[in-house]
Amino acid sequence: PLHRELYALNPTTFFLPTFLKAISDNTEQSFRSIISEPSPGIFVFPMLQPDFCELLLSEIENFEKWVAEAKFRIMRPNRMNRYGAVLDDFGLEPMLDRLMDDFVRPLSRVFFPEVGGSSLDSHHGFVVEYGEDKDLDLGFHVDDSEVTLNVCLGKEFSGGELFFRGSRCERHVNTGTHSEEVFDYSHVPGRAVLHRGRHRHGARATTSGHRINLLMWCRSSVFREMKLYQKDFSDWCGECNRMKKERQRSTCAATRLVSLYLI
Ligand SMILES: [Zn+2]
Repeated sequence: PLHRELYALNPTTFFLPTFLKAISDNTEQSFRSIISEPSPGIFVFPMLQPDFCELLLSEIENFEKWVAEAKFRIMRPNRMNRYGAVLDDFGLEPMLDRLMDDFVRPLSRVFFPEVGGSSLDSHHGFVVEYGEDKDLDLGFHVDDSEVTLNVCLGKEFSGGELFFRGSRCERHVNTGTHSEEVFDYSHVPGRAVLHRGRHRHGARATTSGHRINLLMWCRSSVFREMKLYQKDFSDWCGECNRMKKERQRSTCAATRLVSLYLI
């Protein structure tokens, strides 16, 4: 490794003081003081120190160089990204464990209780690279996670916006988008986005420069187990919600009709 100090999480060198303070206070109010929710279920906040981003970027570069020289074939992060690396595979797993336990889970407990936010217990951590001679964009998809943390590490780039189109359960993943679900987000280095894995999204083309993002897909085995046995487990799905409201409306209308008729 190039920078050994990255391999154990050190809160004061990794995170911005505002972020640390909000997490240690550990209340919804303290979280909301640094976190904005520009669209329902999408949480945005400044998180990482610029120096830490730079260190991590050079560590990743070093790792990739080493892999190339040794002619190793490494696992790419997922089916969609050709460029990038799984962080767990080069020794960062303990650091990411702590990132999930002490930072992502407290936030998810408050913001995503309905998808097992308080019981996140495993993760898949990786970096993705976009730009010329890398992947350019990323199609519309959902993540294999309950909660996803997506932090931009740099470098200089234009484009690469994330577009969100509403949360959907397995049954409704291909249904249309309602206007209030349309949200586009522009990355800023050091800033994080936290969203449900089932919140449909994609990334537009990075039109110049290079963009590198750290992603952590956090999963809850408890939530996955419960989902198998419990029906109607998707009140967070935009389409399930819409159908439920529709049913309520027609029931109300029927009730009104009856009461009019009985007058
Ligand atoms: Zn649904």
